[in-house]
Amino acid sequence: MQKDLREFIRTIPDFPHEGIMFRDVTTLFGHPEGLRLTIERIVDLFKDSGIDKVAALEARGFILGGAVARDLGVGFVPIRKAGKLPGKTISEDYELEYGKATLELHDDALEPGEKVLLLDDLIATGGTAEAGIKLVERLGAQVTQSAFVIDLPDLGGAAKIEAMGIPVHVLCAFE
Ligand code: AMP
Repeated sequence: MQKDLREFIRTIPDFPHEGIMFRDVTTLFGHPEGLRLTIERIVDLFKDSGIDKVAALEARGFILGGAVARDLGVGFVPIRKAGKLPGKTISEDYELEYGKATLELHDDALEPGEKVLLLDDLIATGGTAEAGIKLVERLGAQVTQSAFVIDLPDLGGAAKIEAMGIPVHVLCAFE
């Protein structure tokens, strides 16, 4: 039977706010088998999918993004929080549980028509992923696939991204 990745993921109650069950992937990435299985499973999903670039979301998505892009033989593109990228950027605001945040992408990071795999550690409401998708699309590229280590299905993010016509792949879920 396939190893359940949830065994490697630590849950920290009430972080960063009371009532949030924080699914901590530092214990997954810190374990050699956990890290290897995570990367291998994502790479296996997209080996023959014709992806041109991997785009990942700061910060935990970057840990996956570089390794997966390297194994797929494609380039890596960072989608960062406001004010971090040195070149000319485009930006998208999105809603957080408390307040707003902004994501940015270099305006020359993707070519029109490129097929992009979007990666992050976890999908909750899908707001972060949606902002990332909008940035990619504004450059004329297309998010053709997305993948997350963890899904929180009760929060509806995966269903929201699927409703935008983008396939969502997850390695495990916490109800
Ligand atoms: P959302 O935009 O609601 O889909 O939230 C996804 C982003 O917030 C991801 O980048 C996650 O790393 C982080 N996140 C949201 N909820 C949790 C949680 N319960 N545990 C760990 N990370 C979370």
